[in-house]
Amino acid sequence: MTKSITVAYGDGIGPEIMEATLEIMDSAGADIETEVIEIGQKVYERGIDCGIEESSWESLKRTNCFLKAPITTPQGGGFKSLNVTIRKTLGMFANVRPCVSYAPFVKTTQSDMDLIIVRENEEDLYAGVEHQQTDNVVQCLKLISRTGSERIIRYAFEYARVNNRKKVTCISKDNIMKMTDGLFHAIFDEIALGYPDIENNHIIVDIGSAKMASDPSMFDVIVTENLYGDIISDIAAEVSGSVGLAGSYNIGKYGAMFEAIHGSAPDIAGQGIANPSGLLHGSILMLQHIGQSEVAQNMHNAWLKTLEDGIHTGDVYSEEHSKHKVNTKEFTQAVIERLGSVPMTLKSVDYASSERKRVRIDTVSLPIASKKELIGTDIFVHWRGREDIEVFANSIINKKVEGLELETITQRGLMVWPSSNSPKVESDHWCCRFKSVNDEKISPNLIIKQLQTFQEQGIEFIKIENLYNINGKRSFSVAQGQ
Ligand code: NAD
Repeated sequence: MTKSITVAYGDGIGPEIMEATLEIMDSAGADIETEVIEIGQKVYERGIDCGIEESSWESLKRTNCFLKAPITTPQGGGFKSLNVTIRKTLGMFANVRPCVSYAPFVKTTQSDMDLIIVRENEEDLYAGVEHQQTDNVVQCLKLISRTGSERIIRYAFEYARVNNRKKVTCISKDNIMKMTDGLFHAIFDEIALGYPDIENNHIIVDIGSAKMASDPSMFDVIVTENLYGDIISDIAAEVSGSVGLAGSYNIGKYGAMFEAIHGSAPDIAGQGIANPSGLLHGSILMLQHIGQSEVAQNMHNAWLKTLEDGIHTGDVYSEEHSKHKVNTKEFTQAVIERLGSVPMTLKSVDYASSERKRVRIDTVSLPIASKKELIGTDIFVHWRGREDIEVFANSIINKKVEGLELETITQRGLMVWPSSNSPKVESDHWCCRFKSVNDEKISPNLIIKQLQTFQEQGIEFIKIENLYNINGKRSFSVAQGQ
């Protein structure tokens, strides 16, 4: 049955590589009907800060399947990343990026690379919740949820099982971010127990990135948070030969989006030299998703044969490994001419004979309500610190609210009071931690009283974070140096 898909030509090299991709799909016999929408730069320029018109959402919600060329994200204030908005609005929680090297036909430092990165798409610092709090300090909130982590980690294990992958590696930085990344890692360990047939391990993001550059064969399936996934995927793509080679998909319960991993490459836009392979790979993943695996297989094998025949666009061309340097149109024709062929040296793909492989998307529910006890609060203040910190602390203690004790004053997480060896820092952003005596449960009214006291003293509070014991356990970090 003909499948309707939404298509966006995007910005920069987007139109060139989309034309190439659609031409190859058409020649291979893909049974699709396209609905074209406009997104990106032209829409931003019409004053629509989110980069997409209301009518385009209708198409996306109707087809649930989006083939998208890269777009240019305006930098700086005002505009939100359209990519992030689309992924989140359509609930596409997983970004799946296969990374393969094609030695000896494409120059690469790593000849045996064949891995999958499963990146969480909706949370982390990419939630984009940012505030300027003082003259000197801005913040970006890192939000990690139990449900978001559970869903992506289950998806990674299900992906591994369905695709006969042997190992899932979790990447985080839980040695530093013990609560957020600690939660991600702990959920990974919990879920891994349900997949005894699949090996699992965890690696810290810094050494994980280094290993991605030097020894990617140690990875099979990687599951990680949004920011780490973004960075690691680009390292992986670059190591495999070029960012121009790989495609990816974004998936959730309500739809899927297929794209190249690279951006709109404004530096080469309009020259007709872009490599269409990344978007072509996106379209191959899409055809598998919509049940047209034979067409996907034919396109993929023809593309492998083209690479093998040494027909390369400029980004992967090298004297040593290539025979013909071609432009986008010539590369497209070369792939079309090879439809029906299979590579001789590179491993051909077989999508058609195997059962249609759909990775299960589990429903996750909110954790059961915990026993949550309010025991204090962190009040962040904008104070230029002209006085001595002792004087400041004493002025707070002198106006004490009954039931709350000033425990610490911290600056960027470091305890500066009470402390005899804290550095003399110039700052305007401080955090005053108030706790109840013996961690007893308190009423929120005490916190309101403390804020009123600050107001009377002329101390400007900029935000509060309440301190809880959850199920009898401290659920906040302690200060460095405490
Ligand atoms: P980029 O991926 O566009 O380009 C990086 C380098 O790789 C450039 O030198 C470019 O010429 C080259 N390159 C990329 N794709 C290529 C291809 N198919 N063929 C040949 N060479 C290719 O990254 P950038 O320059 O950092 O970003 C440009 C714009 O793209 C920015 O506005 C960015 O926000 C946006 N972007 C969009 C997406 C997306 O739409 N999914 C993803 C990443 C970046």
